[in-house]
Amino acid sequence: MILQDSVLKLKNMISESRNIVFFGGAGVSTESGIKDFRSADGIYMMDYKFPPESVLSHTFFKKHTEEFFDFYRKYLCFPDAKPNMAHIKLAELENQGKLKAVITQNVDGLHQLAGSNTVYELHGSALRNYCTKCGKFYDFDFVYKSNGVPKCECGGIVKPDVVLYEEGLDNDTVENAVNAIANADMLIVAGTSLTVYPAAGFIRYFSGDKLVLINKDSTAMDEKFGLVIHGKIGEVLKETV
Ligand code: NAD
Ligand code: ZN
Repeated sequence: MILQDSVLKLKNMISESRNIVFFGGAGVSTESGIKDFRSADGIYMMDYKFPPESVLSHTFFKKHTEEFFDFYRKYLCFPDAKPNMAHIKLAELENQGKLKAVITQNVDGLHQLAGSNTVYELHGSALRNYCTKCGKFYDFDFVYKSNGVPKCECGGIVKPDVVLYEEGLDNDTVENAVNAIANADMLIVAGTSLTVYPAAGFIRYFSGDKLVLINKDSTAMDEKFGLVIHGKIGEVLKETV
């Protein structure tokens, strides 16, 4: 049961705010049935023949492309996932004109599916794929339903538009995300262990006074937040918005 007191505080903060920005991670989609990385039942705790950090690196993609795609299809493709209460309530807040942007580390596209329009995907999207040779676009199904290494008609490898470890973030996306945070009067951070950089460091651009963390487990940054709610983001937003 979520503390009524915290929910009330959160409600008041939202009603006082005009420029809310939401910054989320894998925990935002666990209520849609998608595993996160660092929870007790997350992907990092599973017994896989390679450690997930290394499988999702650029070096691994280059050296062991077939294994990369095995892992990728199994753990980062979610063909049947539907938006949960968190995605739905955030889209509602944007509709009301209160929320100005969703910044996400997720690659599942669920915010857009729930109706959010301004979404900055720091780590790209599994719904987009490009040929590494000619740049031709391929959709989700092309990669998900192919076997082995997906190949373009030109012979090039088709790579998901997902930011791997060792790869840089897209400049425009970073600029938009940082600007949104810098201009916000309220920042809600949720469902993220705040351990993946540079994304986790973006929070320091916030200069408002309403900084909220909603996370199932505690994070190393809990003490930086004015309000911390240890609970499930979908349940909290359902009671709040
Ligand atoms: P993480 O796995 O490191 O941490 C997830 C955090 O969310 C944990 O602290 C956990 O306590 C919390 N959490 C889990 N369920 C929650 C819920 N219902 N409500 C509130 N909190 C909840 O995730 P991260 O910090 O986003 O870093 C992982 C990286 O992996 C990201 O860069 C992301 O790109 C990628 N990833 C994406 C997806 C996806 O697209 N859905 C899924 C797994 C991983
Ligand atoms: Zn090609």
